Amino acid sequence: MKPSPHRHTPATIDLSAIRYNLITVRDHLAAHGKFPEFWPAVKANAYGHGVVKVAKAIEDLVGGYCVSNLDEAIELREAGIGKEILILSGIVPDNVDYALKLNITLTAPSLEWLKLIVSTGREVAGLKLHLKFDSGMGRLGARTVEETNAMIDLMDECGMEFNGIFTHFATADEVSQEIFDRQVSRFNNVLSKIIRRPKYVHSTNSAAALWHDNQVQDIERLGAGLYGFDPSNGSLKLPYELKPAFSLKSEIYHCKEVEAGETIGYGATFVADGPTFIGTVPIGYADGWTRDMQGFSVLVDGKFCEIVGRVAMDQMMIKLDKIYPIGTPVTLIGQDGDNVITVDNIAKWRQTINYEILCLLSDRIYRKYLD
Ligand SMILES: *Cc1c(COP(=O)(O)O)cnc(C)c1O
Repeated sequence: MKPSPHRHTPATIDLSAIRYNLITVRDHLAAHGKFPEFWPAVKANAYGHGVVKVAKAIEDLVGGYCVSNLDEAIELREAGIGKEILILSGIVPDNVDYALKLNITLTAPSLEWLKLIVSTGREVAGLKLHLKFDSGMGRLGARTVEETNAMIDLMDECGMEFNGIFTHFATADEVSQEIFDRQVSRFNNVLSKIIRRPKYVHSTNSAAALWHDNQVQDIERLGAGLYGFDPSNGSLKLPYELKPAFSLKSEIYHCKEVEAGETIGYGATFVADGPTFIGTVPIGYADGWTRDMQGFSVLVDGKFCEIVGRVAMDQMMIKLDKIYPIGTPVTLIGQDGDNVITVDNIAKWRQTINYEILCLLSDRIYRKYLD
């Protein structure tokens, strides 16, 4: 889907907030004696913030980037990004040629996968790999010391580069420590038994950097924290302030007064109980502004206004305190006057996590950038 810059429903991404967040996390880790390379997670279009702009804005501060699949890695290379790129998921074995050609580091998720890429008969010498160890996330990775060492042996045999080993925490954003500690001890156990330590050992996402900074090793895979939102969704208190980089605005482009008994939107789910001012706003579920936003609020003139009637594909209606002219700003995410709507507020309303809200905002929403 093409972005729609001519529709006045832009997201604004504050690149200076993104830099601020990275520097803030870096300085707090440094104050605790940790000096990792930062390889921020810019997968899923940098969590909806726009991958190329974000990657370029922080290029001088990072050692590399983490992405989710080969196409995301290629997008960065085509944009002229020369830093390291690690693909966090396993890729289809047939596509390893790209990794070699474009100097992209792959995750080796199992011995089976490694054997498969060797068996394709393709060139694998020089291929850079980070071995994934599954310490308890249950998603990808070798699960035993034996498998891990067999993978390292196979890499050595075939001239592949064993460049890193990593694991991923399932509960770094939770109050309870038990599973986190079990994962740490399993990872430490495998590290103490591997035949050779690679250049990079890493395990920490944003939550681990924020609340378990003693675990930070050679690389910090900062995601949520880079964009300034709380990876715990409010269940833990942020140890220091981060700046949300994403805001979303629109405009009233139609406004009217309706009489008692008039209905609004598909299904006629809203019935005016007296004379009511209604504004129409150009955003809908095709933008990722989903139908369950009905009943939530937006800000107009600094005041909360309820979304009434069903959210349609491209438009929705809001209840106003008076008639407003065409072009009146509507804040969907961000500050207006004394009030603010955060991604966390929306996540709570939709009974999900802030990550999902941002990732689901579609490409149709035009992204503007503040430096
Ligand atoms: C997405 C991801 C990260 C970043 O996670 P945040 O919670 O956004 O910091 C780090 N590591 C892996 C393996 C990931 O998939």
